[in-house]
Parts: sequence; structure tokens; C-alpha cells
Amino acid sequence: MTIAFDNSYARDLPGFYLDWQAAAAPAPRILRLNRDLAAMLGLDADALTPEFLVGNDLPPSAHPLAQAYAGHQFGGFSPQLGDGRALLLGEVVQEGQRHDIALKGSGRTPFSRGADGKAALGPVLREYLMGEAMHALGIPTTRALAAVTTGETVYRDAGALPGAVLVRVASSHLRVGTFQFFAARGEGDRVKKLADYAIARHYPKLAGDYLGFFAAVADRQAKLVAQWMLVGFIHGVMNTDNMTISGETIDYGPCAFMEAYAPGTVFSSIDAQGRYAYRNQPMILGWNLARLAETLLPLIDADDNRAIEKATEVLEGVAGKYHDAWLDGMRRKLGLAGEDAGDAALAEDFLKGIEGVDWTLAFRRLTRAIDGPHPLPGVRLDDWLPRWRARLAPNAAQIMDAANPVYIPRNERVEEALAAAQEDNMQPFDDLLAAITQSFGERKGWDRFALPASDGFGPYRTFCGT
Ligand code: AMP
Ligand code: MG
Repeated sequence: MTIAFDNSYARDLPGFYLDWQAAAAPAPRILRLNRDLAAMLGLDADALTPEFLVGNDLPPSAHPLAQAYAGHQFGGFSPQLGDGRALLLGEVVQEGQRHDIALKGSGRTPFSRGADGKAALGPVLREYLMGEAMHALGIPTTRALAAVTTGETVYRDAGALPGAVLVRVASSHLRVGTFQFFAARGEGDRVKKLADYAIARHYPKLAGDYLGFFAAVADRQAKLVAQWMLVGFIHGVMNTDNMTISGETIDYGPCAFMEAYAPGTVFSSIDAQGRYAYRNQPMILGWNLARLAETLLPLIDADDNRAIEKATEVLEGVAGKYHDAWLDGMRRKLGLAGEDAGDAALAEDFLKGIEGVDWTLAFRRLTRAIDGPHPLPGVRLDDWLPRWRARLAPNAAQIMDAANPVYIPRNERVEEALAAAQEDNMQPFDDLLAAITQSFGERKGWDRFALPASDGFGPYRTFCGT
């Protein structure tokens, strides 16, 4: 394998990771390779061997390592998480863009805390699908370069499962929790080093401006969560170790797309309190950013009180940033012309009207009501429609079609694809992947990817079972 990795993380941040090797995989086999992504990274897809993709045959330029990080999980602080089943191999720089190439499921590391360091095939393929769907929807995300079976069996609550490795591409793996790891240990000089590194990598114009850096991260994360809300995406584990400094979606565990619109929707079986319910995501965004702010205070101002004042001012702006991004997206989803002070209320009133209706279809079908009766059975929009029609842009249908996806990874289809893959049948996975990577614009024969789960599917539950 001849990838020329760079290793800025290893080089610039000694003490922020442990050198480590992937566990030997007995019989690696490439299940799916993301050729488009390989091309985008300037990699020769045919040179990506299974042994390389599980970390067993690495080029000399690779510097495999497990990153240290901490995190608030469901509100409680864990001072040491870290890559318990992941390894950063190195970075690929293509056209000035730096990307991490990392493995997930590559075996135990010093951060494994008693777990096996492995990943099962189902969650690996789930992450592959979700990342590609988000990318196609124009939402910043980590992506899968490959899904590789290891030839091993892993044991989970669900029983004996095929083991797999996900090869993950990210613009970096810096997390809010990475800052927390060093801040919690009182290593202020390391927090500064990390901030300088993160700024150089993601916000180069902000060198030395730590408050500006914090505001920029807040801005990107606010826009990200707004995009999640607009497509009905529920992350499921918005712990601070799962929120990136780059503003990319990361760690597709128990996430899922909401079908019937209900603001309190929770899919994750471990989220008993509904902390990460659909409607709570914008609030958790602010909560997580406050945790990041805490780590940066000494850098923001030498005077504690002034640092808190400055950070608080940014934090108080987060809800507004989020709301602006959300409203901007809603205006497009509703095909509105320009901006009007009543737009937020108009959008909220529509949402009240569609409770219980499929989120994705409601917006898609609303387009037909531009000049006809609305096609949403059981939904009362009599008062709302004239208000909306009065606000429509001349090319409203076009705007709406470009903003409202037809194909998302629907829960029943995802489960079907993963179950078939377990039985060595990748056809449902490939069909679903084709649909969700061409999210906009109806295609003949793809109805099953556009419709909500059948009645027999029942209430949907997701698991962290990694
Ligand atoms: P996650 O829930 O995937 O965000 O992971 C939270 C933490 O648990 C991270 O430190 C992971 O590395 C670790 N972890 C999750 N699953 C495993 C596993 N099977 N083996 C070792 N560590 C794991
Ligand atoms: Mg995680």
C-alpha cells in the first residue's frame, strides 16, 4: 500500500495519544469500498487492500495511534474515554484539505476499559449508510471509506455477530471531549496547544484568537444541529465526546431519522430520560458548547471574570445562531420569498399541523398545495394555507424540491438492509445506498424508499451495540 500519510496530530501533539497497533484480523474481506470518496481523497481505490483497510499492512508513512479524550455522557463527566476501539492511521492532504483516515473496530487499546475493541457488521454498515445519506443531504459529516469484515466473530447482546472494521474519513477527530480531557487534568498548557492546533487546522484565520475560535465552533455546530432538525435527524448520543470541533456529524450509533413528526421522539434504548430527544437537540448543543467554553476560559482572558463574561456572551448568542440557521432552512423548505417577520410563526404553525405525519413526506407533498388542494390526509391547514401562499416565492416549487429530500435512510429499509447483509445478501444495502445518495427528485421504482415504515414494523428502537 502506498498512501503518503502526513501525521500532524502525532507530530504536533505528543502526549495527546498513545502509539498503538490494530489487532490482527484473521480473514479481512472488503465488503464495500467508497470509490467516490477514495477519488475525492486522491487515493487509488484499487490499491486499498483488505489488509491495509483493517490496519494489518500499513505503509511506513502511517503512524497508528489511539487518541485521548474525555466527555460528558448523558450529563455525567467521564474523565477518560479515548479511542477504545479506534485508531488514527494518519492524514491525507488533497487540494489543501486535510482528512483523517481512521479505523473503528480495530481491536483493544489502552482506552478500551474492559470492552473488546471490536465492531459488529451491522453498526458498521449503519454508520456507512448514515454518513453517505448525510453527505448527500449536504450536511457536514464524517464518511466511510470502506466496510471490511474481519473474519472474526464478536459477541453482543444480540448474540454472535460477524466482526467488521469501518474505515472512517473525517476532517479531524478533535472533539469537545478532547479539550475536556486536558482541562480536567489541569493541563492548561496542553489545552492551549490543542486549541492552537485546532485553530490552525480548522479556523486558520483565527490564530491566537481563542474567543473567536470558540464563537466559530459554536457557529458551525449551531448550523449543523439546525440541519439535523430540518431533515428530522436524531443523533441519539450528543455526548460531548461525540461533538466535533470541525462541526461534522460524528459517531453514528443509535441515530435515526424521524418518520412521524413528534417533537419528543427518542429512538435510543439507552436514552431513558429522553435527554437527546429530537426537540432537545438545540438545547443540548448549547449545553455542550458551555462545556467547551469552560475548557477555554484561561485562554480567553487571564482575568477569570472577564473570561466568563466573554464566553457567556458567545453562549447567549448560540440559540439565536441556531434559530437563524433553522429559519433560513425552513424558509427554503416552505418555498418562501425573501424574509418576513412572521416566518418563524408560519413555520411553527405548519409544524403544529403536521404532528403525527411523516416529516419528510409532509414537506415534499406540500409542494402540490402551491396551486391545488393539500394532499395530507387528516391534516387541517385551512387557515394556514392562505397565509403560506401569500408568502410564496415565484419559483417556490423549485426551491422546495431542492430543499426537501425524497429519499432518506428510513428505519425499516435500514434494518432490512442490515439483516440481509448479515446473511451475505448486500442487494438491499446497495439499493438503499443508491436511493439515499440521490436524495432529491423522485425516481421510478423507488417508492419503497420514500414511504414510512409499514404498520407491522412497530415502534422503532436503536441500540449502541457496537
Ligand atoms: P461511543 O458510544 O461509540 O461514542 O463510544 C464511547 C466510548 O466507548 C469511546 O471511548 C469508545 O472508544 C468506547 N467504546 C465503545 N465501544 C467499544 C468497544 N466495543 N470496545 C472498546 N471501547 C469501546
Ligand atoms: Mg463516540
